[in-house]
Amino acid sequence: MLEFGDTIPSGSTLHADIAVFGAGAAGIAFAREFLDSNQKLLLVESGDRVPDSTIQSLYDGKTIGSPYPLSGSRSRQFGGSTNCWAGLVARLDPIDFEKRNYIPHSGWPIHYDELVPFYERAESLLQANDGSLDAFSDAPFSPITFSEKLRTKIYQWRPKRFLDFLSDFERSRQIRLVLRSNVVALHLNGDKWSIDSVTVKTLDGNTFRAVANRYVLALGALENARLLLSSATEDWPGVGNEYDIVGRFFMEHPHLDNQLQLMSFDGRFQGYSGSSDFYPAIALSEETLRTERLCNSAFFLPVSGSAPSDPWAKRVQTIATSFGLSSGAECFPVGIPIEQIPNPESRVSLDSERDILGMPMVTLNWQLTPEDLTSLQRTVEILVQEFGAFHVGRFQNSLKQRSLKNPLGGNHHMGTTRMATRPQEGVVDRDCKVFGTDNLYVLGSSVFPTSGAANPTLTILALAMRLADHLRKNA
Ligand SMILES: Cc1cc2nc3c(=O)[nH]c(=O)nc-3n(C[C@H](O)[C@H](O)[C@H](O)COP(=O)(O)OP(=O)(O)OC[C@H]3O[C@@H](n4cnc5c(N)ncnc54)[C@H](O)[C@@H]3O)c2cc1C
Repeated sequence: MLEFGDTIPSGSTLHADIAVFGAGAAGIAFAREFLDSNQKLLLVESGDRVPDSTIQSLYDGKTIGSPYPLSGSRSRQFGGSTNCWAGLVARLDPIDFEKRNYIPHSGWPIHYDELVPFYERAESLLQANDGSLDAFSDAPFSPITFSEKLRTKIYQWRPKRFLDFLSDFERSRQIRLVLRSNVVALHLNGDKWSIDSVTVKTLDGNTFRAVANRYVLALGALENARLLLSSATEDWPGVGNEYDIVGRFFMEHPHLDNQLQLMSFDGRFQGYSGSSDFYPAIALSEETLRTERLCNSAFFLPVSGSAPSDPWAKRVQTIATSFGLSSGAECFPVGIPIEQIPNPESRVSLDSERDILGMPMVTLNWQLTPEDLTSLQRTVEILVQEFGAFHVGRFQNSLKQRSLKNPLGGNHHMGTTRMATRPQEGVVDRDCKVFGTDNLYVLGSSVFPTSGAANPTLTILALAMRLADHLRKNA
């Protein structure tokens, strides 16, 4: 059933078994799991079916620290940021879930193997292949031989727009989807253990309440933190925020594009540079990551045979030509998304300025550390050595100390309500339940304790499906 907040009388109360806030990738994947269930779901979404600039402006905020496009990196519409995403998906690696003693605050309370069945279900939703593809052996990729220091990792293009799932909800009798409606406050009961109700507002001035047995926040990593923080009361520092962790540990996948140029002489990357379905990357093996004490990363080798724009690359190509190596000579920039070290000072907080609904705006202080760059520099060194040793190509490495001053993000917001085993270390437990509450759950990459290097959405979907199973079993 589809409704609009403007048509719901002010002062009314909507009842449900589960109330879900935010219909982006996470909220939609979660809610779809209840299409055939007896439980009644309320799915409340700020956006409409098409973009709306006034609604989008609710994403405006401020940045201190590294500049960041707060509104430009999200889409406030039914379907969320999948309305503008690239659709590149991959699983996190098993090592990403481990406690690595050289990465502070690392370690998920769940193991990679626990997510595998849900990764498979998420891949099926996106009509993607399962995680068993191997770039060395699977067509159409030509084999590349390196030492065991490197591995290949397959990413897949699955630019599914979750807007396409709207009709599932329009037809459903169990799920009540309410668009153009913004959650603005969570209300705790007197003993502060459960959420009693949630206030929802529309831009036209309607205000109504949602009351449910369980509440799920799926607003994206910046807004999940914003709502928990702004629901603070005089005697309570925000929901789930007893230990001042909500909003902290904001992570991105810093992208250092164009700072590493690869010249390959023999054309072996032709046919290896991606297709409409697959996008292979090269990464350090888990063993190398452990022994060298490095963060995870991926190296994308795009645009086979692209014209060299860099003067160095032009010079190398001229030399290659003079040695008769020009046929198949290729030169391209290598894109590198890296895992950011969890940093409590990298954080989302509330500004004194409010938006048109009266909610405090977000201030983002995205901060990398010198250790992020040290890890990246060593990673690049290994890559350069391996490519040289195996005669795969030559790199120009223009990675500079200043590289991390103004990094580009990947539009991936992670870590602001991190998952942990105890409330002193995180905001949600292994079931995505907010510590200190018995009926509030959080979905999305805000729960990631560490980011890995893979794009986040496949893991977001897997976690959403896992929570749906959990709540269905424990109805
Ligand atoms: C340009 C771009 C490219 C990207 N490319 C990739 C990629 O290739 N691969 C990948 O894995 N990821 C990519 N991403 C990231 C990906 O889009 C997100 O990881 C994913 O959409 C997050 O899902 P989510 O449901 O947690 O949040 P969102 O998709 O952001 O959904 C949150 C929903 O909550 C709603 N909402 C917010 N506040 C409120 C409120 N107060 N009340 C009610 N509703 C509210 C929003 O309108 C939105 O619908 C990209 C993002 C961008 C912007």
